[in-house]
Amino acid sequence: LEKPFVEALPVLFTLMKQGHEAYFVGGSVRDHLMGREIGDIDIATSARPEQVQAMFEKVIPIGIDHGTVVVYYEGIPYEVTTYRVDGEYNDFRHPDEVKYVATIEEDLSRRDFTMNAIAMSYKREFIDPYGGKDSILNRSIETVRDAAERFQEDPLRMMRALRFTSQLGFTISSTTFRAVQEYAYLLEKIAVERIAIEFEKFLTGEWVRSSFKHLNKSNLPTHMPVFSAHPTLIEHSNDFDWEPLKGIEEAFAIFVISNQELSVSSFSEQWKCSKKVKKEAEVLVKAYKMLRIEPLEWVVYQLGEERLSSFKRILSILDNKEYSIETLRETLLALPIASISALAITGNDLKKWFPDQKPGPWIKAYMDKIERAVVLGDFKNNKEAIEMWVKQWNQQEES
Ligand code: ATP
Ligand code: MG
Repeated sequence: LEKPFVEALPVLFTLMKQGHEAYFVGGSVRDHLMGREIGDIDIATSARPEQVQAMFEKVIPIGIDHGTVVVYYEGIPYEVTTYRVDGEYNDFRHPDEVKYVATIEEDLSRRDFTMNAIAMSYKREFIDPYGGKDSILNRSIETVRDAAERFQEDPLRMMRALRFTSQLGFTISSTTFRAVQEYAYLLEKIAVERIAIEFEKFLTGEWVRSSFKHLNKSNLPTHMPVFSAHPTLIEHSNDFDWEPLKGIEEAFAIFVISNQELSVSSFSEQWKCSKKVKKEAEVLVKAYKMLRIEPLEWVVYQLGEERLSSFKRILSILDNKEYSIETLRETLLALPIASISALAITGNDLKKWFPDQKPGPWIKAYMDKIERAVVLGDFKNNKEAIEMWVKQWNQQEES
């Protein structure tokens, strides 16, 4: 067993010593069988949440109404969930009630896909009532039980199916895919924030390029924010040379750059994204547009070190292979300053040099002009050089 499982064994044993059953479940078991790197470890147990809570020192009852408590052991969090099945999903958010059940098999029956419905014991014995191992061997995504029913219960599962194609390189089985196409409209019932989480995982997946083709055929885009009003967007994006993105802001930038009718604010509002995502997408779009009219130095200066790789990805995806990441990085590193705070002067110097002028917007205008001139190497970043130039500009303006 891989290290994350070994580290989690004491949690399993603690539960078992008190007479309960406990298994590893979900993504970690799937990833173990695939030989992929193991992410978070989830545990299923016959113990009730209150019992689990009483057994460990550090516990956060984060989803206790749904049977989940987070146990911290040696500083690592584990989601420990009591065997349960879901009640009705009337609001498409959470099941109205959860019902605790006696066996792991029943618990596995509520899970989304066969590859995610495998339990593994501490001895590496598998409980796999839905043929999850075979699905993994066949690299196939299929729902546990009837796809149409499972998607009607929780339409987010359709988005999850697509994001797993991108993360795992699997194909959605034809029965399951037909159900996605048929019930795609139910995605509109789902909170945008939850769709955004799955869409971002889709965008960052290793197989995102081929997954866009599946997404295009899934009917889901018609029921996703922004894409619903611009049906050709995902279709045309199949021409892009997609590679795994770092985050959803890069996708927003790409779509906005390639479609004049769209804006970053329409994306970030309709997708209910954070201010940070909006800001990042805006900077990337602005830099892309600048590239045609401004020197490369000025563009990379606006981006800064942290955004260079995002920018490079956007360029390649939109088929602009002119600049390598090395060129971008070297250009940035060769700049005399990295930000306006590195200028050899401040607004106070300007006030001193022009004592007769009242402080006002002219100070900012001059600072901007000086910043640009220093970045582009028009003069050196030292006080004397700057003073000379600024006074010269001022004379020109007066005459
Ligand atoms: P990842 O590697 O991204 O964490 P995961 O398979 O662990 O993938 P999670 O969202 O962490 O996915 O969910 C853990 C497990 O809970 C899943 O493997 C699946 O068994 C079950 N599950 C999660 N979401 C749903 C859902 N909407 N419907 C049914 N089962 C679900
Ligand atoms: Mg997980």
